[in-house]
Amino acid sequence: MSDAFLDHVRETLAAIDRDGLTKHERQITTPQSTRVRVGGREVINLCANNYLGLANHPALIAAATAAMHDHGYGMASVRFICGTQDLHRALETRLAQYLGTDDSILFAACFDANGALFEPLLGPEDAVISDALNHASIIDGIRLSKARRFRYANSDMGDLETQLKAARQGGARHVMIATDGVFSMDGYLAKLRAIRALADRHDAMLMVDDCHATGFVGPQGRGTPAHYGVRADILTGTLGKALGGALGGYIAGQQPVIDLLRQRARPYLFSNALPPAIVAAGLAALDIVEAADDLRARLFDNAAYWRAGLTDAGFTLLPGAHPIIPVMLHDAHRAQAMAARLFDLGVHVAGFFFPVVPKGQARIRTQINAALTRADLDQALAAFRTAGKEQGIL
Ligand SMILES: *Cc1c(COP(=O)(O)O)cnc(C)c1O
Repeated sequence: MSDAFLDHVRETLAAIDRDGLTKHERQITTPQSTRVRVGGREVINLCANNYLGLANHPALIAAATAAMHDHGYGMASVRFICGTQDLHRALETRLAQYLGTDDSILFAACFDANGALFEPLLGPEDAVISDALNHASIIDGIRLSKARRFRYANSDMGDLETQLKAARQGGARHVMIATDGVFSMDGYLAKLRAIRALADRHDAMLMVDDCHATGFVGPQGRGTPAHYGVRADILTGTLGKALGGALGGYIAGQQPVIDLLRQRARPYLFSNALPPAIVAAGLAALDIVEAADDLRARLFDNAAYWRAGLTDAGFTLLPGAHPIIPVMLHDAHRAQAMAARLFDLGVHVAGFFFPVVPKGQARIRTQINAALTRADLDQALAAFRTAGKEQGIL
């Protein structure tokens, strides 16, 4: 590697640092939970996607351990060669039942599922219309397809209709609208009723990525389409958040779509099968999640309590009811300083800034879960008040 190239890389890193955008990873030495140890200190964790508190659940650990004993450790194969066990098909069927679709197909992650989805289903005669705030993996997945691309301003239904008309006027054969069910930086739900109505009016399909909803939004946690009582034609999601928090993604939909993806989706054909422990724990997670109305009630109670506490303290939040509760600080340096001070005060949160949110919209994204106690939340609120005053935010 040439010195010129390495100098170029070092200069890029220095520029990231000058802008206050360097991310530093804290090393946790305990299992993921509401309280974790970092560098020998116990801190309250308000930034995991562990919405239902299942990431260290004994039933999931037991299922994973048992599967390692009776199904082994790794698959050493992609699915179609010799990487499909009974467990993989059981989880695909179980996910489909839970989500109310014909079938589903597993991937190593939802990032892969979204990367896999568009290219085999849509060609140059087709069009994808994508919300501007969609997850990076949807954006990348759309880039990998040859379909014509249209983008609408976040949740702007007028703009969506404009783009639908443009796609139709451009002669598109098939049109697909792609949206996050919940926008992960803001905690806003997509306006799925209006989107579905527009999709029907313009003969478009609807794809929803429900990573920040499956397991806890809607009846039995079946996600944002269930919450709004509308149908999504294709759903993608993750096992890496509410459904246990380990790893794995999926696409769920009608049988011919899943069948074609199994033949053509590149991250499925050219990447290893999920290990049995993860798959078995995914099945155990669904058993818990389907019956977890108590956990969902506690999650939304906790979120409401936290939101009210921060609002009373004088912080600027984005509105909503989702357990993603962003505290707006606008400036990246300020978000970094606030997160650092909160850590000193025993609260683990992360500053979010460019490129994961637009410049000038830096924030601390707090995430509430069902396992947090009122004592945890009160302690964290006291820390936010102290840090907010010290940093001149309150
Ligand atoms: C987390 C997330 C993903 C990626 O999921 P992984 O399974 O971690 O790859 C994709 N889409 C959205 C909206 C997400 O929030």
